Amino acid sequence: SVSKDVQKMLEAHELLKKFYHHLLVNTKEGEHALDYLLGRGFTKEVIDRFEIGYSFDSWEFISKFLVKRGFNLEMMEKAGLLVKKNSADQYFDRFRNRIMFPIMDHQGMTIAFSGRVLAADDQPKYLNSPETKIFNKGKLLYNFHQARVHIRKNQQVILYEGFADVISSVRAGVEYSIATMGTSLTEEQAKIIRRNVSDIIICYDSDSAGIEATFRASKTLSLVGCKVKVALLPDGLDPDDYIKKYGTEKFKSDVIGASVTLMTFKMHYFRRGKSLQDEGEKLHYIENVIKELSLLESSVEQEMYLKQLSTEFDLSMEVLKEQLHRVSKTEK
Ligand code: ATP
Ligand code: MN
Ligand code: MN
Ligand code: MN
Repeated sequence: SVSKDVQKMLEAHELLKKFYHHLLVNTKEGEHALDYLLGRGFTKEVIDRFEIGYSFDSWEFISKFLVKRGFNLEMMEKAGLLVKKNSADQYFDRFRNRIMFPIMDHQGMTIAFSGRVLAADDQPKYLNSPETKIFNKGKLLYNFHQARVHIRKNQQVILYEGFADVISSVRAGVEYSIATMGTSLTEEQAKIIRRNVSDIIICYDSDSAGIEATFRASKTLSLVGCKVKVALLPDGLDPDDYIKKYGTEKFKSDVIGASVTLMTFKMHYFRRGKSLQDEGEKLHYIENVIKELSLLESSVEQEMYLKQLSTEFDLSMEVLKEQLHRVSKTEK
């Protein structure tokens, strides 16, 4: 029956999570993987806490392990743990020679894995379990099961792009940290967040992909009623890089503590790669900002940002206000 299949799949994930972790911390073959993690700044504590593991460089180590414990290989393939050879009825291990991040659902059940390569140029960098009966990427937030109680207590959540970012953030003492599974934030994920908290800080990578993704995620989150702030990082760094380079205290004070309002982020976003010396681009920028301002509910906030524009571009408040009223009318 279906529920019995699910039961078996969950059982296999729980067992393998412990096994992969054992291979990482207790075996000779796992030593180089452990060294890699320690070299990246992962501590023994977070390796245990997040139950990180290692999959051996073998095609059949795990399939044999599963057979020995009486698991049905066809079912294990459906669970995403094994891959089937096209030609024969032969199964081999999906995850080979990778750092294994177990993925827990919001109740704490292990339902998937993400495996990271050790060598910088191996592809793909992260290999995720496929969508299965027990794993739906678009509904899952990494570390939510551990973070939830802290999110509710602090009425705050920080959304990251990657697992390593969440783990470093937790190492810095910021427990209310979650991430998506390497995909854009879905409406379903946004709704799950909103059911628990309204204040959210997006702290994505500072590359173009991260900034674009921040813009998109902020829209999704605003639509479900979240109050969004954005934590900005110096160019090229992600949160994990930043913590490694500057330490946890500076991360908390200068990145998380200095997070900006969504409007300030948008102003930063609209002028990226633009030369505001150019009259056309300058005009376009000011119009973009005023359009966004027209969507704000607070006139105090509107006035605050209009003052910034007024100072920066030497425009009178009267003209800016008139433009804002005009845009507000047409937007309605
Ligand atoms: P690391 O610090 O280990 O290099 P990262 O988290 O900084 O990893 P990014 O390249 O910023 O990696 O990607 C962010 C997230 O996107 C990853 O944590 C992972 O969930 C996902 N991801 C990255 N590359 C891939 C890939 N090739 N396939 C699937 N998911 C990926
Ligand atoms: Mn990235
Ligand atoms: Mn990154
Ligand atoms: Mn990284």
